[in-house]
Amino acid sequence: MKKSSGAAPAISGFPPGCDAIIALGTNMGDRVLNIERAIEILGRAGDIDVVSRSRLYRTAPWGVIDQDWFVNACVGVRTTLSPHELLGRCQAVENEMGRVRTRHWGPRIIDVDILAMGASCINLPDLVVPHPLIAERSFVLVPLRDIAPNIALDGQSIDELLKAVGGDDVVPLDHR
Ligand code: ATP
Ligand code: CA
Ligand code: CA
Repeated sequence: MKKSSGAAPAISGFPPGCDAIIALGTNMGDRVLNIERAIEILGRAGDIDVVSRSRLYRTAPWGVIDQDWFVNACVGVRTTLSPHELLGRCQAVENEMGRVRTRHWGPRIIDVDILAMGASCINLPDLVVPHPLIAERSFVLVPLRDIAPNIALDGQSIDELLKAVGGDDVVPLDHR
């Protein structure tokens, strides 16, 4: 596993027509339902408009590998919320769905991360955007490619990044 500095990478090629890209992941209970519910809750207040979504993928656990498989997806949203307001909304989804934090990178009913917000580069203690681990995670890169195929991080395309990490452990579910 490549070491990450924890700093936000430089981003280019953010898709026109959306303001932020959000990653969703779950490995507890009815995973597909959890993703659908999280997307619904995100859009419920009307100030986050989900305008694009990736396929759903069955993925192998990453980082802490002695846990159940995940379903992962990405959505593109239109919003005028600030980055911290959007983070708060992502965390509100996790709280409403009853996420309980056990161990770092451990099992979760839902995880909602901001992957990117346009060309913004944010390095704060509680918010790093673009998310610093995108390049190392096939379970993020593959769904991200569905909705933002032209993104490059630190000058590397998604295909180049995927070549480096491999994508065999990320398998599309048939229907969404
Ligand atoms: P990882 O961030 O490596 O994917 P995780 O999602 O399991 O790990 P969490 O426990 O869900 O980590 O979140 C820990 C903290 O990460 C949050 O409290 C939040 O302040 C911070 N954070 C920093 N950058 C982001 C981001 N881009 N999106 C969501 N949370 C972020
Ligand atoms: Ca995460
Ligand atoms: Ca998270």
